[in-house]
Amino acid sequence: MQLSFDADIEEFRAEFAAFLDEYLPDPAVAAKDRPISSAEVPPWAREWQRLQFDHGWLLPGNPPEFGGRNAGILQQYVHLEELSRRRIYHSFNPQGLGIIAASLLSFGTDEQKTRWARRILRAEITAALGMSEPGAGSDLAGLRTRAVLDGDHFVVNGQKVWTSGAHDADVLLTFVRTDPEAPKHKGISVLLIPTDTPGVTRRPFASICGPHDLDFNEVFFEDVRVPAENLVGPLNGGWGVANGSLGHERTLLWLSFADRLQELVEDFRPHTVLERDRYATLAMDNQALRLLGSAALAREARGEQDVPALSVLKLLGSEAVQAAAEQALYSWGSDGLIHPAMTAPFNPFNNDNFVPSWFERYVRSFAGTIAGGTSEIQRNIIAERVLGLPR
Ligand SMILES: Cc1cc2nc3c(=O)[nH]c(=O)nc-3n(C[C@H](O)[C@H](O)[C@H](O)COP(=O)(O)OP(=O)(O)OC[C@H]3O[C@@H](n4cnc5c(N)ncnc54)[C@H](O)[C@@H]3O)c2cc1C
Repeated sequence: MQLSFDADIEEFRAEFAAFLDEYLPDPAVAAKDRPISSAEVPPWAREWQRLQFDHGWLLPGNPPEFGGRNAGILQQYVHLEELSRRRIYHSFNPQGLGIIAASLLSFGTDEQKTRWARRILRAEITAALGMSEPGAGSDLAGLRTRAVLDGDHFVVNGQKVWTSGAHDADVLLTFVRTDPEAPKHKGISVLLIPTDTPGVTRRPFASICGPHDLDFNEVFFEDVRVPAENLVGPLNGGWGVANGSLGHERTLLWLSFADRLQELVEDFRPHTVLERDRYATLAMDNQALRLLGSAALAREARGEQDVPALSVLKLLGSEAVQAAAEQALYSWGSDGLIHPAMTAPFNPFNNDNFVPSWFERYVRSFAGTIAGGTSEIQRNIIAERVLGLPR
């Protein structure tokens, strides 16, 4: 197995590293003005995102008019590696960039790409993802938010939940039922709904991290009139968009878990023999994930698609992060409740997601084992589609 990159990829890395050395935001400004939700992007972070866009470094795989340089998958990988090495994100509206703009570039009209995707990518506006509902999470196809075409508008009624950052977002990519008579996968469509449309109510609610951690939202739609031109993809073709949307998220998702593991390797200081044993497990999981991920990356670079295999990476990565964070929390005991500077290196660029107390690092790890398909759903996929076991 070759575990190094060819010279052209390393040249690409060096070019990006030079860009970062020159343009990384001022940590003093970043430390004072931190993002407080996944769609609230302070001015310095908007400027930072726009700067990357304008230099073709935001999402290198995109064409230049959408903030990239038509780079291949290996270049995209080293790009993310360089960002994570510095513990900075390219965007503080991750779902806007990684799911919503990406979906619009795949499924949107030219007008939607310019009017919505480009503005999200340039951090002029932010976006949130309205998929899950109180009765539709793992079983997304069971969603019940209804949209009825009335002339040149859809009229939307229903409710979403867990909509990260909705209260700070300008627009919601919303999955709605447009044909209640069709089999459930076939009656779904996708609408872009500006959050200032009359009838949209966003109600943020706190997470387990604390009363001030407001990112989750309930979103209610009451007779919300949405222009028909805001339909993304074909009418009743929303299931294809859903798979595409999450696909965008999935390809290099394992790398974010590998980053968390690497951070844990650096931050978790074992003291006792037992803790050192647990630390060894963490270090091995980190290496195993990187090796398996590298093999998946090589397959992708050769043009081979193996989507079910990505479930193995997501499951291993998210559960390894959770197990290691739990061990670190045990090791710290009640001191694990104490906030940042005491327990982890201060990172001015981070929105505190991964450098808070050990308790918070542990509870936040559940985002990894739930969002984007729970561990149980990943195990079902692995059992049926990787191992070929009967249902
Ligand atoms: C941090 C975070 C951010 C999120 N952000 C967003 C967002 O921005 N937009 C959005 O739309 N959603 C978002 N979600 C919601 C997320 O997509 C759902 O939580 C997820 O799909 C699971 O759905 P659920 O919560 O309804 O759980 P359920 O689907 O009700 O599952 C409950 C339990 O049953 C298990 N289960 C369900 N079905 C099966 C099965 N077939 N076999 C075995 N076990 C099963 C699950 O694994 C789980 O343990 C977010 C979630 C988290 C944690």
